[in-house]
Amino acid sequence: MHLPQKHLCVIAMSVALISSAHGAPLVEPTLHIKPAESGTGRVALTLDACGGKTDTRILSALVDNKIPATIFVTGVWLKRNAEAVAIMRAHPDLFELENHGGRHIPAVDTPRKIYGIRSAGSPEAVLAEVESGAAALATTGEPAPKWFRGATAEYSPSAIAMIRKLGFKIAGFSINGDGGSLLGAKETARRIAAAKDGDVIISHINQPTHAAGEGVVQGLLALKDKGMTFVRLDDADGTGNHGTTD
Ligand SMILES: [Zn+2]
Repeated sequence: MHLPQKHLCVIAMSVALISSAHGAPLVEPTLHIKPAESGTGRVALTLDACGGKTDTRILSALVDNKIPATIFVTGVWLKRNAEAVAIMRAHPDLFELENHGGRHIPAVDTPRKIYGIRSAGSPEAVLAEVESGAAALATTGEPAPKWFRGATAEYSPSAIAMIRKLGFKIAGFSINGDGGSLLGAKETARRIAAAKDGDVIISHINQPTHAAGEGVVQGLLALKDKGMTFVRLDDADGTGNHGTTD
């Protein structure tokens, strides 16, 4: 059998790409917003709606206290939470809805498990996850999403490059507020209340039975009492590492 030199070259390159992708460690990008020019400071609150239900303790507190937030929603969550979506859409000044994927599958293009969740496993599957998330949001009548955050917030570097090519910025964070919604109320409140000017907080709005949700509300109210301003990602100049925003 004879293969032209050009083909051999392409095969060799593909093998090299595949093996480097398998070996590449996953990254958990950070994100910061530009600090406030004056005053006490500003932070961006981001809340993930991975699946499941809506934590109305958090949603009501945001509405009652006029705290703006960026909500990362999946297609799965959108389908089951029409009432919460309606409340968010009724307050466009407060809520910005962004893309958390169609089926809450980690944006990692090689097969592996992250926190027990199976990764997308191929470039095609990463693409499908990102695009189906955006398509689900489009059906709500919300503006087209500009930000993407993958399930588990971990990525392979090659998946980051793909998602950027699709036109999305990738939303890391600088404060892990609720530890995947598994922390207690006190520790969650302590972490969120400790946010400084320019921080981006991540927590969850889809676990109404977890104690962490109570801590999210307490932490946010403590920040508000200190005079901290809340901004959404759309309204802030966000800078992430690992090529997630530039
Ligand atoms: Zn999630």
